[in-house]
Amino acid sequence: MDQKAPEINLHTHCCRCRHATGTIADYAACAHQAGIKILGFSDHVPFPDFEHNPDRMFFSELPDYIKEIEDAQKRYPDMLILKGLEIDYRPILGASFYKEEYLDKLGLDYLIGGAHYTPAREGRTSRWCSYITPMPLDLLREFVDLSIQTMETGLIAYLAHPDLTAVSCDRWTPGHAALYREIIDASLALDIPLELNAYGLRKPYVDTPEGKRAPYPWRPFWEMAAEANVKAVIGMDAHRPEDVSSNYAEVRAWADELGLRLCEKEVVQKILARKK
Ligand SMILES: [Zn+2]
Ligand SMILES: [Zn+2]
Repeated sequence: MDQKAPEINLHTHCCRCRHATGTIADYAACAHQAGIKILGFSDHVPFPDFEHNPDRMFFSELPDYIKEIEDAQKRYPDMLILKGLEIDYRPILGASFYKEEYLDKLGLDYLIGGAHYTPAREGRTSRWCSYITPMPLDLLREFVDLSIQTMETGLIAYLAHPDLTAVSCDRWTPGHAALYREIIDASLALDIPLELNAYGLRKPYVDTPEGKRAPYPWRPFWEMAAEANVKAVIGMDAHRPEDVSSNYAEVRAWADELGLRLCEKEVVQKILARKK
């Protein structure tokens, strides 16, 4: 496979999150030029209580965000453009909050979910999920639990970067395998695909005892996922307009080599069926 751009990419950010560049119009233009057929916008979910700001838009910006996506839909009628968000699941809010606020009230087409922060709990604020390097297994435990809770909401089209924490893991051990295996088992049991995320390939490489590697995707995780025959989705996780297709060939080669069961089309079909 030497295809340069994906046919479908549901993981796209924009400058509203304040750590990406480019407007929705810029991403749509790049995607159209690259030949992408289905483009989904999934910027970081904002909360009314400002949790996790400042790495996302304000809650009050959501109508403008949606309007911009709708403008892009009008501009490129030959490309299917979907309206979504990448949610951080906060168990204290419950799944019904996400369904009501984002899917029902705003009429978004879909949500993807990705754990980035350990949830706040009594006596402790939330923290970046892999804030200690090398990451202790009890912190990975929190990430895995939150990832599974995110899938259990039943609201997400797929789980983004299930191996995000590999950025802080220096080696793959039986302890890592056992914990990450729980994400894989939940993905199979709940029928929620896992995302092979291209953004990790564009991030600074990390030093490990075995040499430098991209922070993620993490090879041993994906070998285990392929062995278990999970459903997978390639996500570009674009934070710059030109990244709607960059690294696609590389990540697709990974998927093909591992024999991953890619299911982007099925994910889109389910999104569209839910809308009816
Ligand atoms: Zn981001
Ligand atoms: Zn993410």
